[in-house]
Amino acid sequence: MQAKEAEAHRITASRRDFLAYRTVCPFCGERVGPRFVTREHADVPPNPPYAASVRCPRCKELYEVVFTPRP
Ligand SMILES: [Zn+2]
Repeated sequence: MQAKEAEAHRITASRRDFLAYRTVCPFCGERVGPRFVTREHADVPPNPPYAASVRCPRCKELYEVVFTPRP
């Protein structure tokens, strides 16, 4: 079991959807994409970057997008 708090700050999305701004902020629903990445995490193989830290442009919440290998 993961801590609920950590789960709230993490979403899972395909990289393709993220790059096309088809993911939304888990806090306010704003459409968010690569322009709002603050940091990419390339530490986990085989397809770096594996995840990205994102700051929502509307509500300013910081969360993590974990990329799935498939759409
Ligand atoms: Zn937001």
